[in-house]
Amino acid sequence: MKKTVLVAGGAGFIGSHLCEALLNLGMKVLCLDNLGTGRMENLSAVIKNKNFKFIKHDIQKPVRIKGVVNYVFHLASYASPPYYQAKSIETLMTNSLGTYNILEFCRAKKARYLITSTSETYGDPLEHPQKETYWGNVNPVGIRSCYDEAKRFAEALTMEFVRKHRVDARIIRIFNTYGPRLQKDDGRVISNFIWQASHNMDITIYGDGLQTRSFCYVEDQVRGLISAMMKEGLAGEVINIGNPDEFTMKEAAVIIKEMTGSKSKIVYKPLPKDDPTRRKPDISKAKKLLGWEPEIKLRDGLSRTIKWFADGQ
Ligand code: UDP
Repeated sequence: MKKTVLVAGGAGFIGSHLCEALLNLGMKVLCLDNLGTGRMENLSAVIKNKNFKFIKHDIQKPVRIKGVVNYVFHLASYASPPYYQAKSIETLMTNSLGTYNILEFCRAKKARYLITSTSETYGDPLEHPQKETYWGNVNPVGIRSCYDEAKRFAEALTMEFVRKHRVDARIIRIFNTYGPRLQKDDGRVISNFIWQASHNMDITIYGDGLQTRSFCYVEDQVRGLISAMMKEGLAGEVINIGNPDEFTMKEAAVIIKEMTGSKSKIVYKPLPKDDPTRRKPDISKAKKLLGWEPEIKLRDGLSRTIKWFADGQ
């Protein structure tokens, strides 16, 4: 009997890659998305698959699906800073009320649950690299708090469903992830730089460009999420999934400019408020519990992403 998996946020950037990988593993996939940032184009490779079903639904409303559901991945949320700030109240509600609705669904179905939380729960971290035991340095009322605090609330709610209702839930803190299907107007750094460089437009570095991020290729990310879901005995565990290779934004701009053969100028713009100074996951827990680590180096992942952009998205 095929297992049935529900992916909330399955039409999004990571969600759509996850749906494909789950179908390739022989599962039935129910994809739930309100198409806030998710796109039907992201599902073009799977929409006709007989084991795939798309359901347009906003998880701020209760989730009702007939039949057995074995696993639930909860990826539904705005995730790019310009989008979650523009849709700040929706972001807060999706991660609070929406997470509650998904958790109640898991409780009723006795389904195993995985939520994608975020490295943003560490805020502008004072500990480096960030381990899961670090509590973070988050501005609770700043312009990023609609995302950071919403995800922290979602983590707290998840833990209470583990403690009070014995839901088999795990929390995965995902770090910056990139790859094909990042939209050109997504606003995140890798998509901005690739789009700008490949059109010989100015490459916009915010601040002095010395802030760091660690970029994980989407295939590595999806492999990590699936192993975290499939592994027994992880109820209540919090695990970082990301690539620990750390780059400044200046380095990222130079690499992308070189790889695209671009004539762009690199220009400097004001740093957005509360922009974290550094970010790099400690992935020793993922290595130990899941035997997972990223395999794709930045230049390899970038060349696949650049190709996807060049092919017209
Ligand atoms: N950034 C940049 N230029 C851009 C977009 C982003 O220099 O065109 C910087 C941004 O200020 C941050 C980093 O790149 O320091 C990563 O930003 P992103 O929005 O991708 O994700 P974040 O990790 O901040 O959520």
